[in-house]
Amino acid sequence: REEQLKQLINQPSVSSDGHQVELAANIGSPKDLDTVLENDAEGVGLFRTEFLYMDRDRLPTEEEQFEAYKEVLSTLDDKPVVIRTLDVGGDKDLPYLNLPEELNPFLGFRAIRLCLERDDIFRVQLRALLRASVYGNLKVMFPMVATLEEFREAKKILLEEKENLLAEEIAVNEDIEVGIMVEIPSTAVLADQFAKEVDFFSIGTNDLIQYTLAADRMNENVSHLYQPYHPAVLRLIKQVIDAAHEENKWTGMCGEMAGDEVAIPILLGLGLDEFSMSASTILEARHQIRNLNYEEIDRTVEDILNKRTNNEVESYINKHFIK
Ligand code: PEP
Ligand code: MG
Repeated sequence: REEQLKQLINQPSVSSDGHQVELAANIGSPKDLDTVLENDAEGVGLFRTEFLYMDRDRLPTEEEQFEAYKEVLSTLDDKPVVIRTLDVGGDKDLPYLNLPEELNPFLGFRAIRLCLERDDIFRVQLRALLRASVYGNLKVMFPMVATLEEFREAKKILLEEKENLLAEEIAVNEDIEVGIMVEIPSTAVLADQFAKEVDFFSIGTNDLIQYTLAADRMNENVSHLYQPYHPAVLRLIKQVIDAAHEENKWTGMCGEMAGDEVAIPILLGLGLDEFSMSASTILEARHQIRNLNYEEIDRTVEDILNKRTNNEVESYINKHFIK
């Protein structure tokens, strides 16, 4: 089996009828680059930068961050690298920030909310990213965006830091795409408006599912409600992909669902452009996609979206598209 998968290295991720997608890797640090290369990832779809901030007793400096981003970008050469700005709060605490205890951390002061408030921290990260941008194909992504104002404000700060660097005669890549994670239902619902302003979307299903079904992703007592194939989740995903395409933008997915064999046929049929997953599952996913027929799934997408429950969707996919 492993031998068979190795044969797929350097092969395109293309369905049997010629529909090509990008299979990218999720990483948490430059240490993950070996497995990214070994498994022939076509890019990095999510670099979770919070790990640079965790397990230490102070914030990482601009220089420390610059080195990490530069290493990832230069290793990936001209392949796309989506780097997500700091996503702490929720389940990821930074003790040295002394953040207030919250009753509902997943609905609280985290990610872009924290970065816009603490722009001293945010600006250091953005400067490091901008300086590293000349070493590869960087795309910057903001997490947990709930409103257009948040995106506009974050992008404004990014552009300010870019101007500051240029004024200091420090080189910056001029064509950095700036996108958002779609992981809050308000943003999925309003995707048509966001699509006019962002360069890309990446759907964060780990959070999108928990917020759509109001089922804490860490709470075992409600894990039966954490339903990736719930038709409500699938319709939101479709809406996001269609909204992006309407504006000639691309949509990726970097939640666990992107590497899940039951979800892959649906996502392919919905027209997802980029699938970002743990590097170790990339060749499996490529194998699966090369044996699927895009047109055939495309014709049944409406049937799938008209199912009424998670289990109906799951049985349908297992019956028709899993060998
Ligand atoms: C997500 O929410 O799907 C995601 C990829 O982000 P994280 O798992 O880091 O919250
Ligand atoms: Mg998330």
